[in-house]
Amino acid sequence: MSDRILDQFAMRDPTTQYPRPPFEEQPQEPPGLARDMLPRPDHGETSYRGFGRLKGRKALITGADSGIGRAVAIAFAREGANLFLTYLPEEQPDAEEVIELAKKAGVQVHAMAGNLRHEDFCKELVERAHTALGGLDVLVNVAGHQIYEEKLQDLTSEAFDATFKINVYAMFWLCKAALPHLPRGASIINTASIQAYDPSAILGDYAPTKAAIVAFTKALAKQLGKEGIRVNAVAPGPVWTPLQPAGGQPQEKVKNFGANVPLGRPGQPVEVAPAYVFLASQEASFVTGEIYGVTGGHATP
Ligand code: NAD
Ligand code: MG
Repeated sequence: MSDRILDQFAMRDPTTQYPRPPFEEQPQEPPGLARDMLPRPDHGETSYRGFGRLKGRKALITGADSGIGRAVAIAFAREGANLFLTYLPEEQPDAEEVIELAKKAGVQVHAMAGNLRHEDFCKELVERAHTALGGLDVLVNVAGHQIYEEKLQDLTSEAFDATFKINVYAMFWLCKAALPHLPRGASIINTASIQAYDPSAILGDYAPTKAAIVAFTKALAKQLGKEGIRVNAVAPGPVWTPLQPAGGQPQEKVKNFGANVPLGRPGQPVEVAPAYVFLASQEASFVTGEIYGVTGGHATP
């Protein structure tokens, strides 16, 4: 094991542990690729070390090619989980890198590209994952869509609809399709955002989807408590992923991304993944209906 990997646990100053703004302008077409970002995000490729906390778990992860989803896939693989990964077809170059890294952890890795805007695809995905993994214990909804629009007048119904389809409906469809397969002890983890609580002026569709995810997560946790299934969400603050330069923010904001949180920089995907590992694991046996903030200090209420 390299020194770099052991360093994951060394005490360090979190304000300087990872790159700080200003960053270069770097427009990409959505959904964007992690491999084209400057600097490249840290998804834990060389820094995440697992301890078997998810040994033998069968996990379906959406948005797994890049950003937070990739970091979750790498962490889950190194914690011993078998994986079924999904992403958009145009993200295959990013996906290949994750699949190869996860396989190196010695776990099963299956993958299928497709568009979560379609209920039929969501249903097929869950069935395929269930069959390939021989069961399903963890559903991790990470996929998300964020395109900023300065003025409500310019926000089209099509754009509003697309954001809700991917962020809210797909989560609903995937949870519904997964439920008949989930055993007692299973865990569902959704991805909310600080935007649920402190929305940006230019995210008039995205921010409300994240508030919906918070309420959905809490409602489902209440409903599934007696079934022994835990439901939680992670609420990240600014994280260095393709979502932001690929239309999520104006380039001017990308340059200063993360500058206004107390730690003064954006988080890296690898810093968000441990929250998902914890919520999936048995260590979180008494944690359900919780929204776990990983925000650099722009705290959730
Ligand atoms: P990302 O671009 O790396 O990941 C988002 C993924 O969503 C894409 O890789 C893609 O695979 C998937 N996706 C988008 N549209 C899809 C569609 N129609 N069908 C199937 N998959 C689709 O960016 P990220 O920042 O890692 O985003 C992951 C999650 O984190 C999202 O839910 C996002 O809202 C949330 N989030 C991100 C930040 C941040 O600052 N980056 C902050 C708070 C919350
Ligand atoms: Mg991607």
